[in-house]
Amino acid sequence: MIDNTDHIQHTWNLTHPTGDQIAIDLWTDGESVRVEGGRGESTDGGRKDVDRLLEKYALRGYWVESDYPVNDPHDWDADKQVDDEPADKPDECPECGHPVEYARNHVADHRQGDAWLCTDCRWGEWI
Ligand SMILES: [Zn+2]
Repeated sequence: MIDNTDHIQHTWNLTHPTGDQIAIDLWTDGESVRVEGGRGESTDGGRKDVDRLLEKYALRGYWVESDYPVNDPHDWDADKQVDDEPADKPDECPECGHPVEYARNHVADHRQGDAWLCTDCRWGEWI
C-alpha cells in the first residue's frame, strides 16, 4: 500500500476494547471521507459524515484514541484567483527581467483596468 497522506486533511484513530482499530480520514477536498478498517465505508459528506461515523462507531464501543490534522484544507479560493488570471501572462518584465504580476483594476495615468505590472521597476502593460 502506498503511504501517501497528501490528500488527507484530518485523521481520527478509533480503538475497540477487543484491540480492533480503525481510522477515519477526511480528505483535503473537505468532502471525501474514507474509513480504513471497520466496514471500509467511503462517503463524500465531509465533516458532518465524519461526525456521523464517529457516533456510529462509538455506539459499537469504539473510542477516539487520537485525532490530528494532517494537511491544510484545499484552498478553493486561491485556485479560483489563479484561474481568473489571463493566460497570456508575460514570462518576465521586458525592461528589467523581473517577474510580472497580475493587477486587477489597477489605476494609473487616469485610467483603470487589469494590467501586468513588474514587481521591480515601474513597467506595466494594460491587458
Ligand atoms: Zn521591470
